[in-house]
Amino acid sequence: MPKVIAIDGPSGAGKSTISKLIAEKLGFQFLDTGALYRAAALHLTRKGIKPESSDNEIINALKDVVIALNGEKVFLNGGDVSEAVRTTEAGHYASIFSAKKAVRDFLLQVQRDAARYNDIVAEGRDMTTVVFPDASKKFYLDASVEVRARRRYLQLKEKGMEITMDEALRDVMERDERDSKRDISPLRKADDAVYINTTGLTLNDAIKRVLREMP
Ligand code: C5P
Repeated sequence: MPKVIAIDGPSGAGKSTISKLIAEKLGFQFLDTGALYRAAALHLTRKGIKPESSDNEIINALKDVVIALNGEKVFLNGGDVSEAVRTTEAGHYASIFSAKKAVRDFLLQVQRDAARYNDIVAEGRDMTTVVFPDASKKFYLDASVEVRARRRYLQLKEKGMEITMDEALRDVMERDERDSKRDISPLRKADDAVYINTTGLTLNDAIKRVLREMP
């Protein structure tokens, strides 16, 4: 039975960077579920689906869509959308469409399939609570909203995207609100997840802190 290490937390808490490095260290695959939600949202907006569209319209639009991850690369129906999914706009729509039952149902199977044959480190918002409730180890990563906004700002700047610190802060706060207040699979710490606040930690320290918890 493949092993799953499940990691949740708000945007900018360091989940992706930390999960990727932990996966490398353990020889596990890395599953960035935010990328799946971003690609699904990109597909829906391209199909003209609006936040107010009905569940049926969303279900129809998701028929036959193929989303695949390969390392850092994200593919939507065979097309490389790795850059398109990283914009603040893509994150914004991912956060809106991820509150829809039709979208979450569709991606639930995609995520579980990824753990069928491989040991994985899976990160997102509901890995520990809904997708992999029996994960062998669970973590909830957190950091202050200012630090998370700064990380987002620097990440996007590094990719050459236009963003101000104010916009990054607003984006993180809006997504926190939406992701934790939605009815289906809201972001919350699972009772059995280890809580780690990365605010004052270097990346190295955060990795050490996570590895210390490993069996
Ligand atoms: O982690 P990332 O910022 O790429 O995620 C984009 C959005 O996708 C989040 O703001 C959240 O709304 C949604 N998401 C989710 N459940 C997950 C992963 C991401 O709802 N497991």
